[in-house]
Amino acid sequence: MLNERIERIGLSSREAERRLKKYGHNILEKKKKISALKIFLSQFNDFIVWVLIIATIISGFIGEKADAITILIIVVMNAVLGFIQEFKTEKSLEALKELAAPTAKVIRDNTIKVINAEDLVLDDIVVLESGDRVPADCVVIENSNLMVDESLLTGESIGVEKNTYSKDCNIYMGTIVLTGRGKAQVVQTGMSTEMGKIAGMLQSIQEEKSPLKEKLAFLGKILVIICIAICFIVTLTGIARGQGKYEMFLLGVSLAVAAIPEGLPAIVTVSLALGVSKMLKRNALIRKLPAVETLGCTSIICSDKTGTLTQNKMTVKVLYFENNTYELDGKKEIPENTLLKKAFVYCNDCNFDFKEMNIEKSLFGDPTETALIKAFFNKSSQLKDFLSKSKRVYDKPFNSDRKMMSVIMKEGVKETVYVKGAPEKIIAKCKYILLRGELKEFNDYYKRKVERAVENMSYKALRCIAAAYKPRNITKNNMEENLVFLGVAGIIDPPRREVKDAVLKCKIAGIRPVMITGDHKNTAYAIGKELEICEKQSQVISGEELDNLTDKRLLRIIDDVSIFARVSPKHKLRIVKAFKEKGNVVAMTGDGVNDAPAVKESDIGISMGVSGTDVTKEASSMILLDDNFTTIVSAVEEGRVIYNNIRKFIRYLLSCNLGEVLTMFLASLLYLEPPMLPIQILFVNLATDGLPAIALGVDPASENVMLDKPRYKKESIFARGLKEKILIRGSLIGICTILAFIVGKWWGMNLTTCRTLALSTLIISQLIHVFECKSEKHSLFEINIFTNWYLIGSVFISLILLLLIIYLPFLQKIFHTVALKSSQWFIVIFFSGIITFINSVYLLIRHKKEK
Ligand code: ATP
Repeated sequence: MLNERIERIGLSSREAERRLKKYGHNILEKKKKISALKIFLSQFNDFIVWVLIIATIISGFIGEKADAITILIIVVMNAVLGFIQEFKTEKSLEALKELAAPTAKVIRDNTIKVINAEDLVLDDIVVLESGDRVPADCVVIENSNLMVDESLLTGESIGVEKNTYSKDCNIYMGTIVLTGRGKAQVVQTGMSTEMGKIAGMLQSIQEEKSPLKEKLAFLGKILVIICIAICFIVTLTGIARGQGKYEMFLLGVSLAVAAIPEGLPAIVTVSLALGVSKMLKRNALIRKLPAVETLGCTSIICSDKTGTLTQNKMTVKVLYFENNTYELDGKKEIPENTLLKKAFVYCNDCNFDFKEMNIEKSLFGDPTETALIKAFFNKSSQLKDFLSKSKRVYDKPFNSDRKMMSVIMKEGVKETVYVKGAPEKIIAKCKYILLRGELKEFNDYYKRKVERAVENMSYKALRCIAAAYKPRNITKNNMEENLVFLGVAGIIDPPRREVKDAVLKCKIAGIRPVMITGDHKNTAYAIGKELEICEKQSQVISGEELDNLTDKRLLRIIDDVSIFARVSPKHKLRIVKAFKEKGNVVAMTGDGVNDAPAVKESDIGISMGVSGTDVTKEASSMILLDDNFTTIVSAVEEGRVIYNNIRKFIRYLLSCNLGEVLTMFLASLLYLEPPMLPIQILFVNLATDGLPAIALGVDPASENVMLDKPRYKKESIFARGLKEKILIRGSLIGICTILAFIVGKWWGMNLTTCRTLALSTLIISQLIHVFECKSEKHSLFEINIFTNWYLIGSVFISLILLLLIIYLPFLQKIFHTVALKSSQWFIVIFFSGIITFINSVYLLIRHKKEK
């Protein structure tokens, strides 16, 4: 038999901690730790790298041993770089999983706390509400219409009713509460649960494949083929020119290793993962990595009103009863109306902590409900007295479809029904009205009076809740019929101040904010107008009007609708589908369990960190930790920045690789000696490819990304001129490098000096080009190049490495270089800088003219 004390006040924190130590966490399987060694070894899991290693070893045996060793060291260093990137990514994904871990509401030390589901222990009392995922195997000890979806265990998708202390009082870990509320005591945790017996843990974060990464992997394959073909030509012409076969073979393979952008998909993941942590700092928790990519294309943001656009700080401003309107902070004295008070306070699911004297601090729960109590009570002791006079015997909870709730209360021996909900729902169910203690027929005259009062309140952006009661002939079936109308409360929920700016930002960025709310049309319009989401009343349509529209008609008008009011969750799915059909990329928020299908259907499903249910969180790709609309806009902005950064390093990496390949290819076409040796090519790859590219991945936005229209979802990563930029710039890097080599020969320098010239020109052109990649629109002269210290640092390191291999005698021997004189540096600087200089001057003049 259950310990009654525990049932009432829950376990103490100390006891829970003791049990946690003794019995362990409530998890199904130990999370596999990422094996660092495995990640390191996977860096060598590349055919072409193995060809290089074997070729190096063979050539080491027959020729230069020092060369072979250095090449191997470079290969290992490359692997270390790759390892660091991947390890960091894995770690941040792991950290994310922890953050997105499921939570549970539990009573401990006599208060309701939200804890990680992992920390639940035996005998904990969990509080369950619709939309919650049951966190452990439990028995129900308190129940109000509790219905659970057990399809996960049984495959049966019909809800199963659960009752207290009966044979169907067991509820199982992983199942979902469909409707109702309840409390349950934990009887099994972790691997001892039914779920533990059958299946692995439900993943809280899905590692879906990023479409961009997939496309790049495909592109990589094509590039491999092209590179290998070019490497063949370079190798064969070298051999035809009389160079050593092994030497040329090694050169060909080194070129392939350097030129193939094998790291591209990995860097995409790194920058998406870094993006995730940046978004987290702005309160957006990403659950699915590809969402980072999609966020940047968002063209419509469908947002709930309450709590997202508004503050969710509710206060009752107006009470209407007996044909009179009373302002709560007005001068007019408000007569006592006990029945209205009872309806709003008894028919209420707030939780209380009566140790607190202050009413503000003693109430927990839905702000609408706490506001109604605060309208009638100042002290928690008075409330406690009031509540002790009756007992709830039955209830039908509130949900966004019904838009009302009702309770049967036992006061002494007498049972009474109290109901509250959206005015039109309540009005439709009332047969009488209470006026000066007398029941009168609720005829059209009285109805119109009430409707007019509600209309007036809603124009002032007040959220209206009506109350009714039923004094006799009560059964569970008829409890919401033939009610007596009592009155209406008008609640103010001020808009969040920062949202107006965010809305403006959206509009400039070509994104349309749309409000979807369960609230009254006029209330929604008043708030929407204040936030500048809409201008005219004609931009608002209600759920009822939506029902009367055919799909075709909806598609025709949807571009003009900015507010959907008095909608139920089922409407949301239709709205998302219609927007998507119009070619939009839709972000959609949701909190309740019924919102999950729409959240899932949208391109970016957004759930609420504070008020959201587990089911909706699981269906979403992003969680708003602060439930704030502004956070969505920040996440979209961050998504755009990250996508731009991915374009930046793709531009950089591919044009550099093209430059490298072309240098060697042009030399073989011109029948010249190879302008670089294998070891030098691999050095270029190590010194310039890795670090600066990663640094570009975290580049702060150099242009205001929210001034452009959203990009087209299916747009290629190379769209908007990127392909041309890569081809032209890559070719110019190759041509300039080969020209430096030719000029050296022309001036009678020896081959080693010419190669040092070519090597330095190639590296320095790339290091200059990396700064050009910071902006797609502006030249080097127009942007601030000092905004990214990682980039400056990585360029500095690359430069130092170059100087070291040119000036340190023992490295000169290994890398076959010579110290350059200042006149030779002039050639290097001239050929690496000339293109950038001409291009920047040209852009500067053009932009000046455009202004
Ligand atoms: P949003 O979808 O923007 O969050 P909302 O929170 O106003 O909007 P609902 O919670 O579905 O949407 O509420 C719809 C209507 O139901 C409200 O306008 C109000 O009249 C009524 N209502 C809200 N909360 C309660 C409640 N706890 N009990 C009874 N009626 C309620």
